[in-house]
Amino acid sequence: MLHKPLFILAHQIGDRNFYPTYKRLLANQWQSYARQKESQEIQLRKMVDFVWENVPYYHKLFRELGIVPADIRQVEDLEKLPILTKEIIKKNWEDFKPKNLRSMKYYERSTGGSTGVPLKYRISKYDRFLSGALLYRGWGYGGYSLGDKIVFLAGSSLDIHPKSTLYDRIVQKTRNSIKLSAFDMDANTMNEFVDILNSFEPKFIRGYASSIYLFANHIEKNGLRICSPKSVFTTAEKLYPHMRKKISSVFNCDVFDGYGLNDGGVSAYECRQHSGLHIDTERSVMEITSDEGKQLDYGTGKILATTLHNFAMPLIRYDTGDLGVLKSGICSCGRGSKLLSEIVGRDKEMLMSPTGKYIHGAALYNDIVSEMKNANNLVECQIIQTCKELIIFNMVCKKQFEDGELEHLRHLIKRKNDGLDVQFKYVNKLSKTNAGKHKFIISELDT
Ligand SMILES: [Zn+2]
Repeated sequence: MLHKPLFILAHQIGDRNFYPTYKRLLANQWQSYARQKESQEIQLRKMVDFVWENVPYYHKLFRELGIVPADIRQVEDLEKLPILTKEIIKKNWEDFKPKNLRSMKYYERSTGGSTGVPLKYRISKYDRFLSGALLYRGWGYGGYSLGDKIVFLAGSSLDIHPKSTLYDRIVQKTRNSIKLSAFDMDANTMNEFVDILNSFEPKFIRGYASSIYLFANHIEKNGLRICSPKSVFTTAEKLYPHMRKKISSVFNCDVFDGYGLNDGGVSAYECRQHSGLHIDTERSVMEITSDEGKQLDYGTGKILATTLHNFAMPLIRYDTGDLGVLKSGICSCGRGSKLLSEIVGRDKEMLMSPTGKYIHGAALYNDIVSEMKNANNLVECQIIQTCKELIIFNMVCKKQFEDGELEHLRHLIKRKNDGLDVQFKYVNKLSKTNAGKHKFIISELDT
């Protein structure tokens, strides 16, 4: 196979440590949890020493709490520190900048978050690279090898650029992948997707659970023939049992769910036992805690993330906004890591364009937030679709945007979504659900 060396070469150009790191990660999955935790804590101690020396926010926090770096040696010691919310980060934005930030290689990103609270953040080059290597390992649980053919069915928040530039085409070629947009999902485009899949014959398909489910329904309803991949990977939102069943039967293969957040660096992937998602330990620490921040051995709690390699923006006990269900015991597959049996709070809704195309709500939401020049002005926001022609973007803001900026965004959204209009509205607060969270994508259409 020519694709594997080409794939590795393309990654080695990005970072020459890619392949050795990937091999090390592969070996590490079979270590016992105790061994994985030991390595994790070596990196945790490095990070704690780093923030004490370099990040004003943590230096002040530690002093206030009477804590020195030597007090945080193990994962259990994290309980001594408070939960970090997006609001705290925004309020102390400057204090989260490490003294030596100028000498670091990093990217700036914005996340819509899973609860409608946007955040701008930095991601170190190495941390981003590690997330890719972990992703490949995670897909490996479902049979993926480097360079295998894969098709992505997702919005831009899953690393898809709307314009297909020459660079994109080269990247897609070397990665042996094709990207299809979940923005354009009407009957015609879904028929085209079927043709593309049947001629490209990917070994794997990856995308938002709801988009793949929608696609599976279309294939079934129209009696289309689809070339069966080895596995389907779903991500970013809740995969309900009925969705898994449908996808599995239409594509005639196994379905593997995954979870990953770049802002907190936590990730988890399902293995062939389908008894939960294996929590990665190499890039961050994932804690499942009570509301007060007490670590749970099992059961439902907040997912907190502590980044171990993101020196450009260290986050310690960062509240991801998601809830996870931690399983007790280990998996029969032999991997040492702990298991998340479920992630709560990943309900996302589909919106619709004036011409009847399905639009992935979370993807559109992330697109809007990432186009904003200063997303951190937003405290929280929500999209409501009242009719096919219009969505309302409710915003709780610290500072209002310039009219020109919102008008620019409006045009952009209209152009990308068949003339779908958006009305930006400043509100004092958003309504909450019973769980205390607000639903951030609401469709009031009767479909
Ligand atoms: Zn397993």
